[in-house]
Amino acid sequence: MRLLIMGPPGAGKGTQAKGIAARYGIPAISTGDIFRTNVKNETPLGLKVKEIMNSGGYVGDDITNGLVRNRLAEEDAAQGFLLDGYPRTLAQVEALDGMLEELGVTLDAVVSLTADTDEVVARLLKRAEIEGRADDNEETIRTRLRVYDEETAPLLATYAQRGLLVEVDGLGEIDEVGQRIAAALDAVRA
Ligand code: AMP
Repeated sequence: MRLLIMGPPGAGKGTQAKGIAARYGIPAISTGDIFRTNVKNETPLGLKVKEIMNSGGYVGDDITNGLVRNRLAEEDAAQGFLLDGYPRTLAQVEALDGMLEELGVTLDAVVSLTADTDEVVARLLKRAEIEGRADDNEETIRTRLRVYDEETAPLLATYAQRGLLVEVDGLGEIDEVGQRIAAALDAVRA
């Protein structure tokens, strides 16, 4: 399976991505996680992206596309993958199209995890308490939601036009949402 998972910050993408990846035996590739690891380890990439991440903005397309290109070339992604948090801009969609073409593969589905704004803000504030993520404060959360609405939400229409979009209600218990996603993806595979 070659999949994307999309949705607003706080919709539960990361959690559900791990479940889907385990179910299909594919790596879950989170650009946010890769960036966070680099920030934590103070790598040159981490130092470059730290400020923009903490402000709630997007890292530049060139950096992000390069990172995904390298990651998809790794052996564990050869039989399938789930991209979590990428693509987030139209330029990233186009870059990904190019990468997949070069690899001679196509996407099977794009999971769109839906959640209303009040719910995602509440979830993100709760996560801030538990995980202490630097970008989970109220001001940054508002920026991230705005940037998502402006730059990323329109991409859902692009994948819908391609007949790849699978919409799943992200509201509910983790297992419940996971089962909804599994049922929706099984239907795609059938
Ligand atoms: P996430 O964990 O997916 O919410 O990502 C956390 C942060 O990492 C985002 O707010 C961005 O600053 C950065 N980031 C992650 N993925 C991307 C991407 N595809 N394009 C640009 N920035 C990204």
